[in-house]
Amino acid sequence: MKNAIYFDMDGTIANLYGVENWLDYLIASDPTPYKVAQPLVNMNSLARLLNRLQAEGWHIGIVSWLSKSGTAEYNEAVTATKVEWLNRHLHSVNWNEVVIVPYGTPKQEVVQFATGILFDDEIPNRNNWTGTAYDVQNIIEILKGLR
Ligand SMILES: [Mg+2]
Repeated sequence: MKNAIYFDMDGTIANLYGVENWLDYLIASDPTPYKVAQPLVNMNSLARLLNRLQAEGWHIGIVSWLSKSGTAEYNEAVTATKVEWLNRHLHSVNWNEVVIVPYGTPKQEVVQFATGILFDDEIPNRNNWTGTAYDVQNIIEILKGLR
């Protein structure tokens, strides 16, 4: 069994909900909040740790939802914006897996290694996860403790 670590994005590593009027933008099918969301974690520390863990054999992934009510076109724009965000803020990380799926998709059903670790700000996602799930507190400290 492969050791794997997955991250949610919105509310976990990206402060989408800290963007003023974020919901109005989403309702208007404007992907701007996904672009301007500030990191919630020290990105230098996160990148360094992820690169080290990956070198030690860990599988590193993203599993993130699209906006709640989006057209196919908006979903495409949000997907592209999320990938751009990752490239911008975690440029040195070479993800093994990036899964961006419709809102509400059970995360444990769409990743390669659902017995791995998930960091996610939403309680239902953590409860449904089949591996070990953590909230957004102490991400760096938890990663430091992994071997
Ligand atoms: Mg989230």
